[in-house]
Amino acid sequence: MAQHGDGQQRATSASPGGRLSASESKYRQIRIAGLTPRQHILRCAPFGFRGRLHAMKHHEVIVIGAGVAGIYQIKRLADLGIDATVLEAGSNLGGTWQWNRYPGARFDSESYTYGYSFSRELLEEWHWKERFSGQPENLRYLNHVADRFGLRKYMQFNCRVESAHYDEAQNLWHVRTGDGREFTCRFLILTLGLLSIPTLPRLEGMASFKGRSFHTFDWPHEPVEMAGKRVAVIGTGATGIQVIGEIADKVGELTVFQRRPNWSAPLNNGPISDAEMADIRRRYDEIFATCARTPGGFEHEPDRRGFYEVTREERLALWGKLYDEPGFGIWLRNFKEIFTDEKANAEFSEYIAQRIRQRVKDPKVAEKLIPRDHGFGVQRVPLETGYFEAYNRPNVHLVDISETPIVGVTETGLRTTEADYDFDIIVYATGFDAITGAFDKIDIQGVGAERLADKWRTTISTFLGMMIHGFPNMLMPAGPQSGSASTNYPRGIETGVNWCTDLLEYMSANGYSRAEATAEAEKRWTDHVTNMYAMMLMRKAKSWFTGYNSNVPGHEQGTVRYLVYNGGAPKYVNTINAVAANGYEGIVLGADRGAPPAASQPTAVI
Ligand code: NAP
Repeated sequence: MAQHGDGQQRATSASPGGRLSASESKYRQIRIAGLTPRQHILRCAPFGFRGRLHAMKHHEVIVIGAGVAGIYQIKRLADLGIDATVLEAGSNLGGTWQWNRYPGARFDSESYTYGYSFSRELLEEWHWKERFSGQPENLRYLNHVADRFGLRKYMQFNCRVESAHYDEAQNLWHVRTGDGREFTCRFLILTLGLLSIPTLPRLEGMASFKGRSFHTFDWPHEPVEMAGKRVAVIGTGATGIQVIGEIADKVGELTVFQRRPNWSAPLNNGPISDAEMADIRRRYDEIFATCARTPGGFEHEPDRRGFYEVTREERLALWGKLYDEPGFGIWLRNFKEIFTDEKANAEFSEYIAQRIRQRVKDPKVAEKLIPRDHGFGVQRVPLETGYFEAYNRPNVHLVDISETPIVGVTETGLRTTEADYDFDIIVYATGFDAITGAFDKIDIQGVGAERLADKWRTTISTFLGMMIHGFPNMLMPAGPQSGSASTNYPRGIETGVNWCTDLLEYMSANGYSRAEATAEAEKRWTDHVTNMYAMMLMRKAKSWFTGYNSNVPGHEQGTVRYLVYNGGAPKYVNTINAVAANGYEGIVLGADRGAPPAASQPTAVI
């Protein structure tokens, strides 16, 4: 609420009378981070003006979501002088890092590869304190970015977008928010987050519980007193594993309700000293160049030796080293066969199982913590701090709900088929309606009132993960099937945001006002994404990478949904850059506002 008022005041005072200052209305030169500087100039005028933001109903661009992607998107638009606003459901910016305040929430990307790369000054001035920075610091960082670059004035908080309908006659999007406001825009940019719709179990009696209970995503903003409390955690994904490791020694009794264990390896976090930070600053160019050439967008480069070309002793030596190193090296510096070859994956999984057996004292508990239904790395690998050691504590108990399922929530706790358990606090670490969930929450209708939810009901289909046939002028810098879900997220979204912004620039420079991916280009891209799953072991795993969620009707069976681009960041970037270089082939660009597309230039994109 306070932020909303604050933003309103700033917007008004920055542009008295809603008019642009002389300097604001000047032509602006466009420079795109990491790409060759563009020579052409974008004029503000055709895109309208930034005026009394909150009083205006029309914006040239509406961005939905003020998380990591939305912040960078509005930065790019603001730099170009394009009239744009960000509509954000939350009470402040930050997305994931604004919502997820559970104990233990932190990066598992190296902090300095998670930060934005677009500003040298920002890189120079920000000191990451830990190799894998925690939620409070991450949120401070995002707020710092917004304030440093004056982005908050473009953002409107506490307004959840409920619908977005494309109006063919006017070539405009009509956007409605939960508080009844209506907007129009020429371009709709969806930066909704991949994991922004939390899902709860469908258990009887959930409302009857007399203690406190919350999903980790909705963790209260004020501190939750846990000392001496009896706490239940349901779920052992990346979130549950972080929470459990963090609170095990801070609560009275901790009972973990595990349905399927997850493969997990040490985060190996540590502080970053002044000297180390100075070195990181010196190496930033090199760090980002490495991220750009690795499949995952990290500093971790795959071991290029063939799994079977080296001896078992050499494999063990590599794995021993990686297990003790920080971050995702154990997953991403490994042999590539881990992802594609059952036998190689099984050998490595058994190595990790042995490490678990070494760390967990009770052999029966250790065996329960070892996954049997999938191999290491075919689901998103959680990184942990003291997770396995938590089970060596006398106050931590593991309940295997694959054997004794939870049948309901009572006034005092949880009931399984075997016993009743009493708790003061129940933590639901039960995951998200991932990737498409946030799209499904908005009533998005394109040409001919086609509903996106209907189009995607059986098969997800996109062009480059950033556009959808039948939904003109709607852009998704981090959409399903884009490069973002499978890469270090900020590296992926910078790519996506730059591409989408470049498209707007191109349209402005060439007098286009309507862009729509062709059905053919969309099919080619979707087939390409789908075919890549065929070679990946991950296709067999029940995880959000394949669209599984036991709490969402229709997604509980684990029938594969092709949501993630598996070709790696360099290939993705090359592909989308080639599309742009070839005059946005695969996209129909139209010049007449309100008229059907004037020209079509679909050609192969892959
Ligand atoms: P998740 O990986 O989907 O895990 C959800 C957990 O809850 C699973 O163990 C699941 O068991 C269990 N569960 C769900 N519904 C249940 C039910 N009805 N009854 C019992 N158990 C139930 O979700 P997440 O842990 O929130 O992680 C999601 C993603 O968020 C991660 O993969 C990661 O990408 C991201 N994340 C990132 C960070 C970070 O960057 N540091 C931290 C946390 C999360 P089943 O497996 O049996 O369904």
